[in-house]
Amino acid sequence: MAALTEVALPKAKMFVGGAWIETSSTRSVERRNPANSDDIVGVVGLATREETRAAVDAAKKAFPAWRDTPPVARGKILAKAALILTERMHEVAAILTREEGKTLAESRGEVMRSINVLDYMAGEAKRLGGETLPCELPKNFAYTIKQPLGVVACITPWNFPVAIPVWKIAPALVAGNTVIFKPATITSFTGMKVIEVFEAAGVPPGVLNMVVGSGSEVGDELMNHPSVKAVSFTGSNEIGTALYAQGAKRLMKVQCEMGGKNPVVVVEDADMALAVESTLQGAFGSTGQRCTATSRAVVVDAIADEFVNRLAARAKQLKVGDGAVAGVDMGPSVDQSQFKTVLEYLEIGKKEGATLVCGGSRLTGGSYDKGFFTEPTIFDHVKPNSRIAQEEIFGPVLSIIRVKNFEEALEAANNVVYGLSSSIYTNDVSKVFDFIDRIETGITHVNSPTTGGEAQIPFGGTKGTGVGYREQGSVAIDFFTELKAVYVDYTGKKREGNLY
Ligand code: NAP
Repeated sequence: MAALTEVALPKAKMFVGGAWIETSSTRSVERRNPANSDDIVGVVGLATREETRAAVDAAKKAFPAWRDTPPVARGKILAKAALILTERMHEVAAILTREEGKTLAESRGEVMRSINVLDYMAGEAKRLGGETLPCELPKNFAYTIKQPLGVVACITPWNFPVAIPVWKIAPALVAGNTVIFKPATITSFTGMKVIEVFEAAGVPPGVLNMVVGSGSEVGDELMNHPSVKAVSFTGSNEIGTALYAQGAKRLMKVQCEMGGKNPVVVVEDADMALAVESTLQGAFGSTGQRCTATSRAVVVDAIADEFVNRLAARAKQLKVGDGAVAGVDMGPSVDQSQFKTVLEYLEIGKKEGATLVCGGSRLTGGSYDKGFFTEPTIFDHVKPNSRIAQEEIFGPVLSIIRVKNFEEALEAANNVVYGLSSSIYTNDVSKVFDFIDRIETGITHVNSPTTGGEAQIPFGGTKGTGVGYREQGSVAIDFFTELKAVYVDYTGKKREGNLY
């Protein structure tokens, strides 16, 4: 009888200079499925600073040839990546669900959005133009061009481990930069799938590199390396704010997309059924772990009882479980730390005196004991300045804030440090446009959930959520390029006039 051999666990690898390599470091973390702690996804070796520098060197070496590759040729590689990702949709969605916990339907949706971004950015290759501008002087031709920056780094969170890397990497590449991608450590295996797609599409060696490792070492090295010309970061306010200050010291371009506390406003004339279903989707979809998740519902008193009762009835129907199982509506929190945060906020909400309408606890018993599962939770009569109304929880917890009228609703909706997304439910055209004018968010919706976004539409927040440039849409290129103004004088004579 053959001796039993220990099955080796998969190891996350780095991708540097076109080769998959393992870190030489002995430090590693194990990644387990958040829905089932018995399921080990693999081991993530944590790269060293030296290995990070080697990746930057590879990207630096690859830059001149990639910069000189015509944009349209660069775009064709992205178009091919879109096709490959389409073919691999189910494989990528499966690892995403296993590593991050969202349902398979949500994972497929995320992959679809990434395909759309690749498709759109492939087209941007043909639109990478500048402007021609009138010149004060005779026989002078003035125009602008967009040029790549050089080596850029993309530092990404775990909650959209396919879409966010893609919506940073695609514009960076199409604009002619070479890239170092650092995925969140806990979603490194999904990050590898993203790289595999670009590799299969024919991105030349060194043009796109991935370093797997901790933020405090790999991320920090990328922030401080003089050859890294820009960092595009998405993640928490705590880290993003520190990185922004760090980058400013060496005048590096830093783009930060951070937290949210997104409100829906529901007024008297709202379509109640629509408002209830959309709020449910926005609050509990992806376990509330979307940056655009609905975490506050600001509802006018006259309809608040009906809204809360109907919403609670629907929340109680949601099936919580392993996102890979058919029929499950909501998966687990991503890891122990996020789970702990959610459970702490449930206690904070209770202590702050909010009315617990439904949920409020972790789920236990059977397979729930092996994962990070919480009940979809609604707190009512939440005070606008209380912690659960102000702080990002990043879990399936909705705070209902009751207000007298539209004016008070707008005030409460704006009364947070964040400014990512918002939504209003009304059929009153005056309220619609007043809300659009005065709501302090980078994205706003009318009669649709706070969540979602499309490849061709700019994405990002104001106030405490975002600094720098918007992502996605044609404006995504702005962060990854330097604008050069050009004057061509074809008089052949010494300049007369315009001597300032
Ligand atoms: P995070 O803890 O801030 O981590 C984000 C990334 O930064 C990870 O790759 C992390 O690496 C890295 N990092 C950590 N410390 C670093 C350092 N000192 N230097 C450089 N990099 C460092 O955020 P998260 O928990 O992954 O993501 C959740 C947050 O992202 C939420 O606040 C959410 O709202 C926000 N988010 C915002 C948007 C948006 O568009 N506004 C979209 C999605 C998510 P490690 O994984 O190794 O720690």
